[in-house]
Amino acid sequence: MVYDLIIVGGGPAGITAGIYAARQKLNTLLITKSFGGQVARKAVAIENYPGFEEISGMELIQKFEKHLRKYKIEIERDSITKIKKIGKNFFVWTKSKNQFQARAVIIASGADPRPLEVPGEKKFIGRGVSYCSICDGPLFSNKIVAVIGGGNAGFETAIFLSKFVKKIYILEYALKVGADETNQERVKKTRKTEVITSAALKQIKGKEFVDSIVYQNRKSKKLNTLRVEGVFVEIGSQPATSFVKGLVDFNEKDEIKINPENNQTKTSGLFAAGDVTDVKDKQIIIAAGEGAKAALSTSNYLQK
Ligand SMILES: Cc1cc2nc3c(=O)[nH]c(=O)nc-3n(C[C@H](O)[C@H](O)[C@H](O)COP(=O)(O)OP(=O)(O)OC[C@H]3O[C@@H](n4cnc5c(N)ncnc54)[C@H](O)[C@@H]3O)c2cc1C
Repeated sequence: MVYDLIIVGGGPAGITAGIYAARQKLNTLLITKSFGGQVARKAVAIENYPGFEEISGMELIQKFEKHLRKYKIEIERDSITKIKKIGKNFFVWTKSKNQFQARAVIIASGADPRPLEVPGEKKFIGRGVSYCSICDGPLFSNKIVAVIGGGNAGFETAIFLSKFVKKIYILEYALKVGADETNQERVKKTRKTEVITSAALKQIKGKEFVDSIVYQNRKSKKLNTLRVEGVFVEIGSQPATSFVKGLVDFNEKDEIKINPENNQTKTSGLFAAGDVTDVKDKQIIIAAGEGAKAALSTSNYLQK
């Protein structure tokens, strides 16, 4: 069977593309590793999505998913490993060894958390190292933890974790934290958080589980050890594009270059939307809008 459209991703961009594609009566398959994407990782309430003055990431994305499922659209929970264009059609392979075919594809695979790339990180994933405070925070009840990254995401993670844990260290590589004033104030109010700047994380240590981290003070060059049982990584994200090499061009941030007018990549029939693209601002409403644009452009492309 050849679908009109395959959408990769179940975040705001992919879900919105799915709703628009279904309303355009495109025979659509949406393949996603999970629903929610980065919104599901949001540690504090979302306050900038119109219509909802304050809503948790999980609740907002559940509403998105429910809306999508109202329509006639096929959904596969799987991870895409490769896309190729052979003749006029696209061939899509997944981790579970399925293969699908479509006349057009929208890539809305967003971004994954950027790894620390220090010794111990990989070894302790799921054993103290976490990229999702919402998912794992409650497991660290009454423990001492570190948040790596002093931007808004790091500070919001600390605010969320302060409900459970005994103490939090926020480690920031730069001289100053990047979090905005409001988040800095909120963190201060937790009375459990110590912010350490100019700190370069060097190693995560432990036996079976994390028991400490080593960081270097970038001014004095001195190595310091902190006893922590959890390490929450919040140093930004990287576009999820490994499966699409060769079909698209990338900018210097490894984001997919698109024509801003119609979201098409350099390959005819291959569109992209949301955080995976070189669209400047990365926000839920922007990703959703870009998903809608991509679906409408795909519909035009297929009619031609
Ligand atoms: C901590 C944090 C806080 C944020 N706070 C806000 C906020 O308050 N307000 C705001 O507007 N924005 C916020 N953002 C930004 C916002 O979450 C993103 O801009 C938005 O989620 C981007 O949507 P997307 O659909 O492009 O990508 P994503 O949300 O990243 O979704 C990508 C989807 O693709 C799937 N996927 C990835 N690779 C594959 C593959 N190979 N095969 C199949 N599926 C795949 C993923 O499982 C996921 O479902 C925040 C982001 C973070 C990380």
